Amino acid sequence: MNSQEIDCSCDQVQQPLLSMDEALDFLFDAAVVNTNTHFVSLDNSLYQVLAQDICSTINVPDFDNSAMDGYAINLKKDQINTPGGFSFEVIDRIPAGSIGNTLTPGHAARIFTGAPIPQGANTVIMQEECETSEDGNRIETWRPLSLGENIRPMGNDIQTRDVILQAGLQLKPQDVALAASVGVAELEVFNKLKVGIFFTGDELIEPGNALNKGEIYNSNRYALVALLKQLNCEVINLGNIKDSLDLTCKALKILASDCDLIMTTGGVSVGEEDHVKPAVDKLGKLSLWRIKMKPGKPLAFGHIGESAFIGLPGNPVSAMVTFFLFARPFIKKMQGVSVYKNQTTQVQTNFDWRRPKPRREFVRVKLDHSTIPASASLYPKQGSDVLSSVVWADGLVEIPEDSAFTQGEILNYYSLTDLTL
Ligand code: AMP
Ligand code: MG
Repeated sequence: MNSQEIDCSCDQVQQPLLSMDEALDFLFDAAVVNTNTHFVSLDNSLYQVLAQDICSTINVPDFDNSAMDGYAINLKKDQINTPGGFSFEVIDRIPAGSIGNTLTPGHAARIFTGAPIPQGANTVIMQEECETSEDGNRIETWRPLSLGENIRPMGNDIQTRDVILQAGLQLKPQDVALAASVGVAELEVFNKLKVGIFFTGDELIEPGNALNKGEIYNSNRYALVALLKQLNCEVINLGNIKDSLDLTCKALKILASDCDLIMTTGGVSVGEEDHVKPAVDKLGKLSLWRIKMKPGKPLAFGHIGESAFIGLPGNPVSAMVTFFLFARPFIKKMQGVSVYKNQTTQVQTNFDWRRPKPRREFVRVKLDHSTIPASASLYPKQGSDVLSSVVWADGLVEIPEDSAFTQGEILNYYSLTDLTL
């Protein structure tokens, strides 16, 4: 599909009806991947996107070492796997970080976890399996001993020239730790995406102020700032903008000058009070989509100059769900993340779905993990204004368009833990 087919000029009231998959394909095609990078210290690298493969220049560990506190032994040939007890003289002591002397046949060295195996040693016996003489100079063992017991060989974790982390990875704590383990102190990451946001609606009031009749608190503002921060974006927030074409154009112009992406909520329907579409149309190019999904039918996508534009619906659940399903993977692709699409798992429904509906539906559910697969129960109110449903839920179940089923249907599930990571 090309943009022509689903584009819709300003005067046309009829907007294109798109499947969710068509809309996602269009977004992914349009996402311009970040190319600017900089170096950050490991402490500042968390959740940034790695711009270059990290290749190890060392083996980890760099030397054979003991996996246990115990005794390194130079087992003689006739002592290997031989039944009966042996006695060894302890002639050295090797804590982690120090190097022991060469161990002669039939002798032992006290050794601690992580300490290098001394030359000559060919096995390590746990201290719990030894009897030690009072002066600590002699040990006795009672079971057959094999070669290489409790020895972590050089390169056991990582070998020189292994690619340990790949470009496009969003760095998690364990990734940062792995980079540290090969001695890398700084990582090259993609620059943060700059996202400019504002919120349309004459009815919107900031929390902390008293409400007059007809007013509501602006919850989308806090949802969007939090979601974007979690995605490690730099956020420029213009706050509430009144329902006026002029003010909407002014806000867009301010943001378009230096944002990679502009996002708004509300004002994307085709009512007289909806000014986002005409404003973006005037300053750039806009496609207004009616997506065959619920919640969140209207979604706007376009460009103002170099900035991409996403207009989310105003209803809080619709805004969040369309953020999760469209904006999030789009942003991740722009950030240079290689696995940018949302991941799903499968669950079984704990409910019937009797009436087929033409739109794909994303219902808020809680999971019961005592069944396999887990079973999903519906929040009783699924309206797009019921934000409590998202707080109650563990995730979203995707109900295919035109489907009816009874309890036990296996469906795709989007975990809110993953979607808000
Ligand atoms: P709109 O898309 O502007 O027609 O808004 C649809 C519904 O979402 C209306 O009930 C609005 O009051 C509500 N809404 C719009 N923006 C917000 C917001 N920022 N926070 C909470 N609710 C909103
Ligand atoms: Mg509005």
